[in-house]
Amino acid sequence: MKLYNSASHKKEEFVPHEPGKVTMYTCGPTVYHFAHIGNLRSYLMEDVLEKFLRYEGYDVKRIMNITDVGHLASDADTGEDKMVKGAKREHKSVMEIAKFYTDAFFADCKKLNIKYPEVVQPATGMIDDYIKVITKLLDTGYAYVAGGNVYFDTSKLEKYYVFNDHDEEDLAVGVREGVEEDTNKRNKNDFVLWFTKSKFEDQALKWDSPWGVGYPGWHIECSCISMKYAGEYLDIHCGGIDNAFPHHTNEIAQSEAYLGHPWCKYWMHVHHLNTNSGKMSKSKGEFLTVSLLEEKGYDPLVYRFFCLQSHYRKGLVFSWENLDNAKVAYDKLVARVAALSDDPAPVDEEAAARYKAAFIEAVGNDLNTSLGVTALYDVLKADINDATKRALIGSFDQVLGLSLLEKAAALREKEAAPVEGAEEIEALIAKRLEAKKAKDWATADAIRDQLKEMGVEIKDSKDGTTWTRV
Ligand code: AMP
Ligand code: ZN
Repeated sequence: MKLYNSASHKKEEFVPHEPGKVTMYTCGPTVYHFAHIGNLRSYLMEDVLEKFLRYEGYDVKRIMNITDVGHLASDADTGEDKMVKGAKREHKSVMEIAKFYTDAFFADCKKLNIKYPEVVQPATGMIDDYIKVITKLLDTGYAYVAGGNVYFDTSKLEKYYVFNDHDEEDLAVGVREGVEEDTNKRNKNDFVLWFTKSKFEDQALKWDSPWGVGYPGWHIECSCISMKYAGEYLDIHCGGIDNAFPHHTNEIAQSEAYLGHPWCKYWMHVHHLNTNSGKMSKSKGEFLTVSLLEEKGYDPLVYRFFCLQSHYRKGLVFSWENLDNAKVAYDKLVARVAALSDDPAPVDEEAAARYKAAFIEAVGNDLNTSLGVTALYDVLKADINDATKRALIGSFDQVLGLSLLEKAAALREKEAAPVEGAEEIEALIAKRLEAKKAKDWATADAIRDQLKEMGVEIKDSKDGTTWTRV
């Protein structure tokens, strides 16, 4: 497949380090609160990438960390640890909220058909690895101790900025808005590998280390977890675009300094879900969750469908109106699949291969999921038998993850089930028809209202009156 690589700033043919095998690393959630649907957009698009690679026959190993320590309020190593802040907010221990929000995160993923990764590693479980890597970075001169903390020395690198096409000055820590400069740093982009001395006394989680009791920096967690489970060469590193700098930039700096060779070949960054008032963010307090979508009556897969309709490298604007449009389209799609006959006719293999090739071409071009969805509609419109259509829909859905065949089967079952009170409804509709014929509009309207109160909506057309429960 072709994948846009943020590190080379171009679309490239994807070639894994080891033929047939793919290692994929994803920065997992910082578990101090629920994931918002913006965070989940990133995981969802990464899930499609993983599923597409499997569809192409690769053996994929997906690794995810759980950030339960070290992620400070500012990505530039300042402010309070987000986990400590979350624990205070809820009057619980850090480990209690970590467990609660990790479980909540994976429950949300399940509802969105996001597959559970092969490896899930909480950051607190890897302290010995951080110490080993930091010790080597100190020994080889890539790190230094200052003011009680251990820092990575970015001046030792030939190239520090990897992703951005921006002016270095704009991105340099210390000049970004709201970030105070840490005077222990030798260079403004240096970052903390191990904290022993922080501004706050109540850091809940601390471990012994050669540099004193303390805790790891956020960036070292991802490098070490990735290297432990994927080895020295990682194929794809994923994350939201906000993580490109400084988080991923620092991951590359320390991993390559430690390994002494290039580390991760492809970087896939998902752009943000925004609302009309800007980027959705957990730290702003109010945000949209999967549970909120459900409370409002949306199937979480409607949100998945909404995300698939746009490209992952473009910002996506969320509004209830946009989601409603996705809901209408998704429900129609399920209804069209449900309307396919069960006829066990033989699958037209030649046609199926043609449509599959079109789907692979679409999604394989830098994960163009909206064209992938179009390929699905093309199948529904095609002049091929229903058995072939069903086979293709099931096949494409291995990548799209919209549960189309399951939802269609459920819809058929619902429609086939005897409807309670149907006789009474039909009788009222007949009575209304009589009233209309007699031009007794008051009675006809009263019956319509009565049906509405019973939760039944009627629609008149030239072919008669149909009804649905709402
Ligand atoms: P966090 O839990 O804050 O560590 O973030 C989890 C993931 O969500 C990271 O990959 C972020 O880059 C990503 N992310 C954060 N905000 C958004 C957003 N508004 N839209 C899409 N992805 C986001
Ligand atoms: Zn990370």
